Amino acid sequence: MHYKDLKAQYNILQNQIDEAISEVLNEASFISGPQVAELETVLAGYVDIKHCITCGNGTEALTLALMSWNIEEGDAVFVPDFTFFASGEAPASLGATPIFVDVDERTYNLDPDKLEAAIEHVVNNTNLRLGAVIAVDLYGLPANYPSIRSVCNKYGIKLLEDCAQGFGGAIGDKRLCSFGDISCTSFFPAKPYGCYGDGGAIFTDNDEWAEIIRSYAVHGKGTMKYDNVRLGVNSRLDTIQAAVLLAKFTPYVDFELKEVNRIASLYSHLLNGNDLVLPYVPSNYLSAWAMYTIQLPDYIDRDSFKSELSEMGIPTMVYYPKPMHDQLAFSTDSPDQRKGYSLDDCPITTNLCKKVLTLPIGPYMPQDDVQYVVSSVNRLLENEG
Ligand SMILES: *Cc1c(COP(=O)(O)O)cnc(C)c1O
Repeated sequence: MHYKDLKAQYNILQNQIDEAISEVLNEASFISGPQVAELETVLAGYVDIKHCITCGNGTEALTLALMSWNIEEGDAVFVPDFTFFASGEAPASLGATPIFVDVDERTYNLDPDKLEAAIEHVVNNTNLRLGAVIAVDLYGLPANYPSIRSVCNKYGIKLLEDCAQGFGGAIGDKRLCSFGDISCTSFFPAKPYGCYGDGGAIFTDNDEWAEIIRSYAVHGKGTMKYDNVRLGVNSRLDTIQAAVLLAKFTPYVDFELKEVNRIASLYSHLLNGNDLVLPYVPSNYLSAWAMYTIQLPDYIDRDSFKSELSEMGIPTMVYYPKPMHDQLAFSTDSPDQRKGYSLDDCPITTNLCKKVLTLPIGPYMPQDDVQYVVSSVNRLLENEG
């Protein structure tokens, strides 16, 4: 069994994907070929946002977005404590101070009340400016945007959506990647909508930021590439990746998104009733199910549970084993002393980091495999309960 079966997807979509790639090979327009602009149009239309700017990966998408807002040293950037490292790495790499905020107990996403407390703390006790809030759609589940947005509005602080795990998710009929003042996603192969290498994209309705981001992504270009008006980076989605994403677009939005939701519901239905904490999806929220993550009960030792599952042929992962505020890179002991901090020790995140376990999931996962995972998990729970 695979943790996420990318091969199964390729086998099914092979004709379209091979054709799309060989078209790029024939055209030999490997960087900024026509497929890149076509993809940007398709994705902007799907998300219903004016501008989509593709780039090298999801981490650079976040960094470029923050650069367009001039986030720098002296800025506080609020980041959930429970996320992938890049959410905090992007602001810190620009010299800003990440402020790690604990997450909601049920959704594992940024807790709006704790966000507000952290903002108040920064306003009252530090000399930092209010730079931005980064909300993450962890595991594919939309963050609580209605509440997070009101906190942002109250303090006049910009909202950046880190949708690396959530492309295709929605709240009501509003799709993810449309909730931030700028929103970012990743096309890393294992993300819900992935390419065959690295890739990312940035979405915004703001013309000025879009233009600045396009400039930063290509060496700070002005009217053309050899007219450079600011110091930028080199961050582009290459044409082959754009072609792969175009070939995967319709299957993803019309089929895979529904299938992965079906698999997740099946898991939740079959796992219901034992001592696990199962994923919670608020009503009206649609998850993209980048991961299906359970919480193990206290009496289970996660390492041995994980290795016993592995012996039964079931790969599992721990996303994430360490709170952001505990990462050496954000402590004053780290070699580059990029300090980040949190108001407290983020008890919800700290507990989640000890208990979470992510099960294999994907749109092409056979129902028998789901059943096998469930019966194996239940057997181990019974043995040890
Ligand atoms: C994967 C991921 C990123 C970074 O994306 P890359 O394309 O790997 O650089 C950022 N944030 C979150 C939450 C992620 O899961």
